[in-house]
Amino acid sequence: MKFIPGLVLLLLLPTIVANAQRRCGTANYIQQLIKADAGLGNSINKAEAQIKAVTSKAPGERDIVADEIIYVPVVIHVLYNTGVQNISLAQIQSQLTVLNDDYSNLNADKVNTPAVFSAFAADTKIRFCLAQVDPQGKRTSGIVRKYTGTQVFSPEDAMKYTAQGGDDAWDCKRYLNIWVCDMGGRTLGYSSVPGGPAATDGVVVAYDVFGSTGNVRSPYDKGRTATHETGHWLGLKHVWGDAVCGSDEVDDTPTQQYYNYGCPSFPHVSNCSPDGNGDMFMNFMDFANDACMSLFTNGQKARMRALFEKDNIRNSFLTSFACDSTLVQASPVISVDTVAAAKPVVGVNIYPNPMQSNVTIEYASTLKSVTLKTINIYNVSGSKVYTATFNSAKTTISVATLAKGIYIFSVEEGANRFTKKLIKQ
Ligand SMILES: [Zn+2]
Repeated sequence: MKFIPGLVLLLLLPTIVANAQRRCGTANYIQQLIKADAGLGNSINKAEAQIKAVTSKAPGERDIVADEIIYVPVVIHVLYNTGVQNISLAQIQSQLTVLNDDYSNLNADKVNTPAVFSAFAADTKIRFCLAQVDPQGKRTSGIVRKYTGTQVFSPEDAMKYTAQGGDDAWDCKRYLNIWVCDMGGRTLGYSSVPGGPAATDGVVVAYDVFGSTGNVRSPYDKGRTATHETGHWLGLKHVWGDAVCGSDEVDDTPTQQYYNYGCPSFPHVSNCSPDGNGDMFMNFMDFANDACMSLFTNGQKARMRALFEKDNIRNSFLTSFACDSTLVQASPVISVDTVAAAKPVVGVNIYPNPMQSNVTIEYASTLKSVTLKTINIYNVSGSKVYTATFNSAKTTISVATLAKGIYIFSVEEGANRFTKKLIKQ
């Protein structure tokens, strides 16, 4: 619901945050950052304006095709001081499963969402993978494990810097950085918000509430801390707007007086409930226990996807192919900064690698213009062995006649060129 003014309400905010049962550190973290750097507040406000500029458009007027799948490569920085904090691969994978289920509206517990609210539940069409390609173009598991001398981290970003006992972020234009570490048992997690500094962009989650198996503690043992914090990373606010009867800038979540915690019974009606259905306490952006949250709404989906639109904060993810292991190559993966400098933007996916009889060449999702493109294939001695033109977003060519060996594929569109090394087996 939209903003309800009230200075007194804002003054109560720190008290509310401090007493929050779920112990999401995001609101307090952002407050502290803005206090230390007023310029950051402007940057966050600008990002908010960009979100609103998109969500105020009719769906047909947006750049990203409705329901086009958006892939987000994730790198998990596991920082451990003791063995128990060095969580298992199974625990990490369980978190990826939870993220994808929750953002797909495929979570089994969605049956618990009351019917009056489940009508608003959304498949965000945003998907997460453990990164397959690292910033240098090398194959990766998407997991960095690192011993740290730091026993307990506080929500002040030390875990994001190698020099401070943490691990430096990977390029935040292509990867969602998630740091998993000991938060001392109080803060479950916190996130940057769109418009924040690049070096600290990402999500932090305590090791013992990360994933749904392994070293996880009740009632935060179903992976919902990462679902919630990633929601902040994607521009979502708490459903009560971090103020008494505040606004989360989303129309299909009812106004609610405060956060909820534990596992409320439906309906939970408060002083500013618009009707007898009360709070949407089962929304991932409230503070209920993991087992008692079950949806994002269509309005929240629109805010999250707005970030990926042209010129917006996370648009570069549309040309991040780090979810695709066939793009492992000897040189760095195509740089988003280089891509941004070229006009029109060139982003190309060529697969499979190694290749056998056929190769598919696909332009990135934002680049579905049908201008003429040329594909040239060179052998390692520089001789051109194949050339053709195509004018579709995706084409498959036969490479059956090529001898075994290494080839350079060059896709050219006007002055722009994308090259990739492929192996014929
Ligand atoms: Zn939060």
